[in-house]
Amino acid sequence: MNSPHVLVIEDEEKITDFLRRGLVYEGYRVDVAHDGPGGLSLARDTPPDLVILDWMLPGMDGLEVCRRLRSGGPIPIIILTARDSVADRVLGLDAGADDYLVKPFSFDELLARIRALLRRAAPAAQEVLKFSDFSLDTGTHQAFRGERAIELTAKEYELLELFMRNPRQVLTRNVIFDRVWGYDFGGESNIIEVYVRYLRQKLEANGEPRLLHTVRGVGYVLREE
Ligand code: CA
Repeated sequence: MNSPHVLVIEDEEKITDFLRRGLVYEGYRVDVAHDGPGGLSLARDTPPDLVILDWMLPGMDGLEVCRRLRSGGPIPIIILTARDSVADRVLGLDAGADDYLVKPFSFDELLARIRALLRRAAPAAQEVLKFSDFSLDTGTHQAFRGERAIELTAKEYELLELFMRNPRQVLTRNVIFDRVWGYDFGGESNIIEVYVRYLRQKLEANGEPRLLHTVRGVGYVLREE
C-alpha cells in the first residue's frame, strides 16, 4: 500500500515544520499550505487521504475551508484549534470535520487520531470475529449467537464490533463515546446505556448467558460470566 498522503493547512511555520518532520518520519507523504486558498488548490490538484486543518487561518478561516473541502468529497479532516468549548467543537464538527484537536496537542495523540480516521476511511477487510458462542462478520455485518441469526442496526453493529475487537477489556464510557459516536459528548447522555440494553435484548433473546457486562461507574466489558 502507498504511504498515506496528508495535507497540512496551517499558517504557523513552527507547527507546520514540526508536523512535516514528524509525519514524514512516521512514513506519511506530507504537503503543507499556509493559508486556506492555497490548501484548497493543493487538495484539488493532489487529493490527500487526510487533511489537518488549522481553524485560525489568514484569508479564509478553517471552518470555511473545511466546508469547501467537504463539498468535494468524503475526505477525513482533523481541525486544530486553540478553542475548546463544546460550542466550538460542535461548530467544527458541523462544518464537516471528523475530529478536533485542541492546541497544544501531543504528537502521539495526533498520530492516533490520524490512524483511526484512515482506518475508518479504508474499506474494511472482511473477517469473522468470534467470542464465546457469538460471531460477527465485519463484511456482511451478520451476527450469530450459536446458530441463531441476530439483526443489528448500524449503531448496534459499531458498538458490538468495538467490544468484539477488545474482548475482556473494560471499555470506559469516554472511549465508547469517542469510538462509536465520534467524539466526546461530555458523558451526560445515557445513549450508551440505551444501546447496551438493545444489544443485551438481542444477544440474550433465548436466555443465553450474559456476555456484555456493566462495570459500575466505569464502563462495560465483553466477557464470559
Ligand atoms: Ca493559525
